Amino acid sequence: MIRLSKSILGQEEADAVTKVLLEDGYLGMGAEVGKFEDEIAAYLNIAANQVVCVNSGTAALHLAVDAICAAGDEILVPSLTFLSSFQAISATGALPVACEVYEESLTIDFEDAESKITPRTKAIMVVHYASNPANITMLYQFAEKHKLRVIEDAAHAFGSTFESKKIGSFGDIICFSFDGIKNITSGEGGAIVTRDKKVVDIVKDTRLLGIEKDSEKRYVGTRSWDFDVTRQGFRYHMSNIFAAIGRVQLRRLESEFAPARINLLNRYIELLSEETSLKLISYDQSSKIVPHIFPIRVLDNQRDGLKNYLEQNNVPTGIHYKPNHLLNFYNNGTTLPVTEKIYTEILTLPIHPGLELDDVEMICKMIKTYLNNK
Ligand SMILES: *Cc1c(COP(=O)(O)O)cnc(C)c1O
Repeated sequence: MIRLSKSILGQEEADAVTKVLLEDGYLGMGAEVGKFEDEIAAYLNIAANQVVCVNSGTAALHLAVDAICAAGDEILVPSLTFLSSFQAISATGALPVACEVYEESLTIDFEDAESKITPRTKAIMVVHYASNPANITMLYQFAEKHKLRVIEDAAHAFGSTFESKKIGSFGDIICFSFDGIKNITSGEGGAIVTRDKKVVDIVKDTRLLGIEKDSEKRYVGTRSWDFDVTRQGFRYHMSNIFAAIGRVQLRRLESEFAPARINLLNRYIELLSEETSLKLISYDQSSKIVPHIFPIRVLDNQRDGLKNYLEQNNVPTGIHYKPNHLLNFYNNGTTLPVTEKIYTEILTLPIHPGLELDDVEMICKMIKTYLNNK
């Protein structure tokens, strides 16, 4: 059975969890989490105190927004993203301002975003859609011009690079997800990465109910009993069990998962780029893309037919994503014509390290059969 997405876990991850359960016996946030943070920092080639692990990518985004925004602030965000990006903003009382995407990259359209700036605009949250850090140079020029903070929703992009620099190794505030199907998983989990010491200090406290300066103590198995709290916090710390899984997965990323995902992506592109009824994402040419998902655009009203055909042939597909401005909770009358058209065209094909090149070839053959025999 072909799966749409999947993380690959094995005995090593199981052993690491067993060790936490039976030898350490400490399941909360402790030494494993500190080591996972240090290893992520080493992988990204940044200082160790710039990585803060939490229990989901959504929590990472929420704490990032909470650290830089107040209620009533506005954040520019592409409507075409996972609900998490929007919920992370609205959870703080800030307002997500839904923006268009460029048709080529399906990442935020800066002209549209610029037209939506108001005196309350505080930040721009971009999404590295399909692991593609598109227009990242333009992003930081845009942010500087308008004096905005940047949050990169890099949930798809762990392992991707721009000009040989890993996503997370530069920029303002970068949030990763390690949920069950992302490029690496810790079961559930996420991380905030930033060079802003103030933000690091805030999120280290807010992940632990706002308890001041408890993180460092937890790493060495103690905690504060006489503490102070000066702001709202959340129960978002990562557990040792999650970190143990994540540490093994991180070691496997460059040797196994990234090359497998890249090979599959390249084969899809080779086999589908000439298809006139399809449009592929134009990936940033200075980037190495480690693809979390592989969405294509199916033109001429053929998406639903192709989706059904593939599913009848046991090829599961997805739609990433239903635009958030169409959800009742966020619908304020905004229309985004490009995003709404794209929503009728996008179709995500299977990609994960458990898939074989043969599977990709079979899927592409089915797609061609459908598109050319209708
Ligand atoms: C997965 C994902 C998230 C949230 O991550 P979780 O770890 O599942 O909470 C946020 N944004 C995008 C674009 C994602 O794909």
